[in-house]
Amino acid sequence: MIGGGVAGMSAACALAEAGLRVQLVERRVYLGGRASSYVHPGVNEVIDNCQHVLFGCCTNLVGFYKRIGVAERIHWTSEMTMIEPGGRRSRLGPSKLGSWGLPAPLHGLPKLLSAHAFSFADKFALARAFAALMRPVAADSCESLGAWLRRHGQTQGATERFWRLVIASALNADIDSIALPYAAKVIRELFMNSAFAGSMGMSTVPLSELYGGAAEFLRRRGSEVLLNTNIERAEWDEKTSQWTLATRNGPLVSDFLVIALPFEATRKLIPHMPAAEGADALAGKIERHEHWPICSVHLWFDREITELDHAVLLDREIHWMYNQSRLQAGRGGHYIELVVSATRAFAALPREEAIRQALTELAEFFPRVKEAKLEKVVLVKEVRATFGVPPGIDAARPTAVSPWPNCFLAGDWTATGWPSTMESAARSGHLAAEAVCLTEGATRTFLEADLKPEGLMRLV
Ligand SMILES: Cc1cc2nc3c(=O)[nH]c(=O)nc-3n(C[C@H](O)[C@H](O)[C@H](O)COP(=O)(O)OP(=O)(O)OC[C@H]3O[C@@H](n4cnc5c(N)ncnc54)[C@H](O)[C@@H]3O)c2cc1C
Repeated sequence: MIGGGVAGMSAACALAEAGLRVQLVERRVYLGGRASSYVHPGVNEVIDNCQHVLFGCCTNLVGFYKRIGVAERIHWTSEMTMIEPGGRRSRLGPSKLGSWGLPAPLHGLPKLLSAHAFSFADKFALARAFAALMRPVAADSCESLGAWLRRHGQTQGATERFWRLVIASALNADIDSIALPYAAKVIRELFMNSAFAGSMGMSTVPLSELYGGAAEFLRRRGSEVLLNTNIERAEWDEKTSQWTLATRNGPLVSDFLVIALPFEATRKLIPHMPAAEGADALAGKIERHEHWPICSVHLWFDREITELDHAVLLDREIHWMYNQSRLQAGRGGHYIELVVSATRAFAALPREEAIRQALTELAEFFPRVKEAKLEKVVLVKEVRATFGVPPGIDAARPTAVSPWPNCFLAGDWTATGWPSTMESAARSGHLAAEAVCLTEGATRTFLEADLKPEGLMRLV
């Protein structure tokens, strides 16, 4: 198994559970890939590569957490606070009628209708768009979210404060670069199918501690985790039907190979794999993928600047606020993380300017920032954070089956139907593990079922 991200870990753990001996090989000195944490040398603090959130609908990621015994380390919440510059707040989330929840998709409607963040015209436009998205969207639709929003008369408020901020930032791309079926999927899962599907989960421990559970799980089953090991080349021996992987520390031999790498690392490996029919076509598909950036600003203050755990920040470059000292209780201090999604302009700013802008904007939402002393700060720019999902991208997402014998593909960018998320990575890992078992002659199901829509959504 090459790659110790969520895709590689979920595939490895599923296969180890099925009784196979797995070697999980990771180039870095820790597991987690893009979803990892490390000690930042500049501030001597453990930081996550960036806040990673999941949702109730992420059944494969949750299934993976359950398998490795860390599911209880996820804190779930169904409320989202939107804040306007100046501090006015609106809360989105499910409502109850007495002790009963409202049936989906109406559960979120009362709070949306009473949200100050949206004008009457915005709310009407959103309600119309939600109603239109209750009808199925053709999976092969070539329309972008932006074009669809214009066709459905979305107001500027609805576009900027909801579609761009909540939906486009969940998909981490500009609205004109998002295929409508992906946007429709996010809307249905997060806001329509059920209150639980849309609830947000956040780790209560740093990500590498969370994913440390995978290493323990594998070792207990006689499998191995090889860190600090870069795979440079792979050769297939027709006679022995085995793969030999070249590493700095000598060769590794295996019956099966799962390449669980991001698209660019998979592309880099192809010229160092055996010649195979279909390898060029795979390389061609990969060329069609594009990166989108995410930036995070990590701030340590001398005092608490807000009692909120997290919030969506409207009309500014900073989009999301996570109060890490409250979310990860073991940390202490007053640590706030700000996340800026899909903005190439912010990612291009020089460090000092980006930090100054983030702090100025933060004070518009939380006035206590003006009195607080900033003790430490870290800016992380992940230029290659996620892949985009523009119209037509599904044709460039390969299945687990690779051009090589006994070799399978995984990674968030492969054909899972999900955007670039930990859920997509976990799904791809489970699909690759199923493909390995099938080649061995065993039919195993690792893919977790989707949550069933509830309430009126069952009828749609
Ligand atoms: C800043 C940021 C914020 C994000 N926010 C969210 C979020 O809130 N929610 C969410 O669900 N997702 C989020 N994502 C996306 C999520 O992190 C990814 O979709 C997911 O982690 C991808 O997992 P993966 O296993 O497919 O790939 P990766 O995590 O990239 O794992 C691939 C692994 O392969 C290793 N590798 C590469 N080349 C080699 C080699 N030659 N030999 C050995 N090992 C190699 C890499 O070091 C890496 O560990 C975010 C990503 C970023 C960067």
